[in-house]
Amino acid sequence: MATVYIPTPLRRLTGGQSKVEVPGETVGEVLRNLDAQYPGIAERLFDDNGNVKRFINVFVGDSEIRTLQGLDTRVSEDASISIVPAMAGGQDGRGNGQRAPRPLTREQLMARVLSQIKEISVQDLASLLKQRKDVVVIDIREPHEVEKGQIPGAKVVPRGFLELWIDDLVRRPDQPVVIYCAGGVRSALAAKALQDMGYPNVYSLAGGYSAWEGAGLPTQKPRIFTPEQRERYSRQVILPDVGEEGQAKLLDARVLIVGAGGLGSPVALYLAAAGVGTIGLIDHDRVDLSNLHRQVLYTTEDIGRPKVEVAAERLRAMNPDVNVITYDEPLFSDNALDILREYDVVINGTDNFPTRYLVNDACVLLRKPLVDASIFMFEGQVTVYRPAVPELGIEGGPCYRCLYPDPPPPGEVPSCAEAGVLGVLPGVIGTLQAVEAIKLILGVGEPLVGRLLMYDALSQEFRVLKVARNPECPVCGDNPTIRELIDYEQFCGVPAPRPRTEALASA
Ligand SMILES: [Zn+2]
Repeated sequence: MATVYIPTPLRRLTGGQSKVEVPGETVGEVLRNLDAQYPGIAERLFDDNGNVKRFINVFVGDSEIRTLQGLDTRVSEDASISIVPAMAGGQDGRGNGQRAPRPLTREQLMARVLSQIKEISVQDLASLLKQRKDVVVIDIREPHEVEKGQIPGAKVVPRGFLELWIDDLVRRPDQPVVIYCAGGVRSALAAKALQDMGYPNVYSLAGGYSAWEGAGLPTQKPRIFTPEQRERYSRQVILPDVGEEGQAKLLDARVLIVGAGGLGSPVALYLAAAGVGTIGLIDHDRVDLSNLHRQVLYTTEDIGRPKVEVAAERLRAMNPDVNVITYDEPLFSDNALDILREYDVVINGTDNFPTRYLVNDACVLLRKPLVDASIFMFEGQVTVYRPAVPELGIEGGPCYRCLYPDPPPPGEVPSCAEAGVLGVLPGVIGTLQAVEAIKLILGVGEPLVGRLLMYDALSQEFRVLKVARNPECPVCGDNPTIRELIDYEQFCGVPAPRPRTEALASA
């Protein structure tokens, strides 16, 4: 048995062994037997003519076999045979028996990467964030590091997902992207990866979060999710446009739903499911048997109970994260501003004109976005009335009064109670309202501002109509004449609602 020393590049074929015992009378026989034991060796050693490749030397003891009898050199029982491929240097010798180069050390790697990427100092990032709104700051640290604090507005992206998500995180490839980690090492490697993908304005934050914090720059504590919340919201948190940052926005959001009926039911259910942290419900109606074909918050057992009470129970049971605030009262000019003021987004789910104008005017005065919808028989409409907020860069669009300066005369437009409504219709339209509310909270997508989405259940068609702000609008126009809430019953020519009337009876 001869002992054969296997060079590193061939050890993959010998299961990592550096020396193996092989029988054989001559060097050639030993090497053929070696190939029999570890297939693939021969083709690395021999050329087509069966000679040892010219860049490989084979030694018996300390003599190269070309100085002896070549492959015919006889070997003794205790001979040692060494296979020594030429050292090429630089190139990976895989496949031709060459020796692999030494891997880079951490220091060599970092020196190389830092010479190839751009770094930004914490002071420069702070002033860049003040000048430009389109800087994307990405925090690639591990969750336990992020928990202690982060740069405000940073998007938390697991390092392993960075290259996969970056396309969704930036709107334009040349947008400035600043990546940070704890100290600037991981972010440098990440910046290199994005740069290699072709993103030209990628920076690694020099010194990382420790430098930012050390410089006394503003930090924020991110919301800490419980394991239960991580599991509950996992399917939407994984969406690049949501993430933990978006989920935190949802949990911090406050949405008021005016009318807990046909439209309000799907809106409330989906917003609660999505984890909208505070949901206000205003409705002073009780559950009626005729509600149940469309108002999916309620069951037969709930008949006669106040709607907001049943709805609150149902939403809390669905998601204990949700704080439900109920108003078992009609919305009037004297309570509307106080109630609406407490919310970020208002959803309209009523079907009477006084409340429509009241909610619209209150939202314009308070500059709150209003997700409006209406349904009639087999048709529905959805739009978002969003007042301009110049200091936040929100352009805004038309309001309800821009579209309908005056209400129809009483009795001209029949209500759902009179004309009927397909029970599924508020499900479709209310769900679209929930989508719009979530988009507004997250700040993603194109809200239905200045667009009226029309749905026809019979033709199963959606159409989008453009609607514009009216500069002459009495409430949101250039010279508004309505600066406070008015008497909407009088304006609409209908009698004022009394408690427990159908006035707020929702769609
Ligand atoms: Zn208007």
